[in-house]
Amino acid sequence: LKKRIPEEGRKDEVGALGHSFNVMLDRLERSFVRQKQFSANAAHELKTPLATINAGIQVLRLEEAPTVADYEETLTTVERNVKRLMAVVDDLLTLYDEQDEGSIDAVNLKEMFDTICGELRFRFEEKQLEVDLHCELQTVQANPVLLYRACFNLVENAAKYNKDGGRIWIKTFAEDRGGKIVIYDTGRGIPASELQSIFDPFHRVNKSRSRKEGGAGLGLSIVKSIVEKHGWRVSVESVPEQGSTFTIMF
Ligand code: ADP
Repeated sequence: LKKRIPEEGRKDEVGALGHSFNVMLDRLERSFVRQKQFSANAAHELKTPLATINAGIQVLRLEEAPTVADYEETLTTVERNVKRLMAVVDDLLTLYDEQDEGSIDAVNLKEMFDTICGELRFRFEEKQLEVDLHCELQTVQANPVLLYRACFNLVENAAKYNKDGGRIWIKTFAEDRGGKIVIYDTGRGIPASELQSIFDPFHRVNKSRSRKEGGAGLGLSIVKSIVEKHGWRVSVESVPEQGSTFTIMF
């Protein structure tokens, strides 16, 4: 891949062909680098919980006379990390599911967001978040399971990265041709330099801080892949320390 056709001075067809070939090689090389990076990230994300599980078991083995409490403690650690492993594997499977958008149905947006908010109720209460839902656009043709997953991820992030006592607005709008779902939050926001890569797999703005909050950095890449499967677009605007706005456009 390092080999390139020398281009200097050739303005004829052979030069043009060489140039196209070099451009293609550059693209291929960037794609290989991205795939290598992806595999390294995925391996790391799987290795961390496995190492914790292994450490827990080893500690138990080294105990001369493990008590019931020791077993309980190890079991809790193993259980927590198995759940984390399952979540990452599940996210990876969703992200790389090659199928198209699958079965399409009329999705009632108000009902869908009511269910999402119900599932996230404890998170909202924990941070005393105020959540407003307003659905001007009532329904959209989509795969119900996939749309739920994408919207869940966005609302969950709006809660996760919000401040205590913050707000979340969920709005749907009808437009001439299509419509949009907009999710606003009053959270920490995203620096302008990060907005380009925010939808990349495993991308987290502040790695150590985000890790504590439990994410592997796959949520937004899943949103993007679901939205694109439907032929839609997703965008983000954000002001650091003030909040973020994610928009899905049909
Ligand atoms: P994670 O599992 O880390 O939440 P995501 O792909 O959902 O992964 O998000 C990637 C990163 O983008 C997060 O780690 C966080 O830093 C940032 N982010 C996502 N949504 C928001 C938001 N609403 N407000 C501020 N930062 C956000």
